[in-house]
Amino acid sequence: MSDQQSAAPVVAHTREEFKAAREALSSRDVAVVMTMGALHDGHARLIQAARQRHDHVVVTIFLNPLQFGPKEDLSRYPRTFDADMEICRAAGVDVVFAPTPDVVYPDGDPGVRVAAGPLGEVLEGASRPGHFDGVLTVVGKLLHITAARSAYFGQKDAQQLLLIRRMVRDLDFPVDVVSVPTVREADGLAMSSRNMYLTESDREVALCLSGALRAGADAAAFGPSAIRRAAREVLVEEPLALVSYLVLVHPHTLADVPEWYRGEALLAVAARVGTTRLIDNTPVLVGPGGGALDVFSDVPHARADV
Ligand code: AMP
Repeated sequence: MSDQQSAAPVVAHTREEFKAAREALSSRDVAVVMTMGALHDGHARLIQAARQRHDHVVVTIFLNPLQFGPKEDLSRYPRTFDADMEICRAAGVDVVFAPTPDVVYPDGDPGVRVAAGPLGEVLEGASRPGHFDGVLTVVGKLLHITAARSAYFGQKDAQQLLLIRRMVRDLDFPVDVVSVPTVREADGLAMSSRNMYLTESDREVALCLSGALRAGADAAAFGPSAIRRAAREVLVEEPLALVSYLVLVHPHTLADVPEWYRGEALLAVAARVGTTRLIDNTPVLVGPGGGALDVFSDVPHARADV
């Protein structure tokens, strides 16, 4: 079927509706793409990747209160349900599960949560205490509820992806985690639902994040300090971006890589632009012949090859 002819997905708001829709699918080969809504081409790419490999695709749309801090943007987070449904329809999604918090957390905030551990306390976790516990708790629940065979996540949220891989491995979730490279605007800005908050001038300022990553990756052949220096030089040119961190870290431990390090590393940046906190990253191969990578090649027990 062409985009124009795809049938609208079944929409389920309750667990019962979802169960019925899930059972009506003709095959057990189901993949899930978890989102917070305000869908864009990055989400669409995840859906398309899942669609190519599986008989059915479930998309979840859920703004998870557990992963937002008290001063964060839960109440102003963009909600664009009708447009989201159109993207899901065009991408061939079978079922959209869009529960409210009382459906996901029928007893209120859960007393028992998944603990992200030390990897959840650095980088994003350092500025957002408890964020990754909230993320992993809801991802775990949605993996159980959807009973998907594979789950697709974006490299855009590199730390989240790493922690989900760890959870799946450490807690033996029977699911295959697949990562998808970051989708960018033509000028390099990583697509994000939060880009909607940016004013026109913020939008210009925000380009320094992807610019810094590009400059860093271009210096990959010369080693870690050259990469960090090249990226930092771009950021210092833009004083309106309030940088929270710029790091070159090991992709599995998130520890800073030493100067002698050669191999795959994660170059990641976070900054506040206007009122909006933005994150971006690129996998890089450090050393002779090195440069930017789309995804990491050697993630244990999981594929990263879309
Ligand atoms: P979110 O709705 O922001 O929670 O994102 C849902 C999923 O889409 C996560 O796996 C994200 O990593 C992924 N995602 C968000 N933005 C992008 C992007 N620009 N490129 C690829 N994946 C993305």
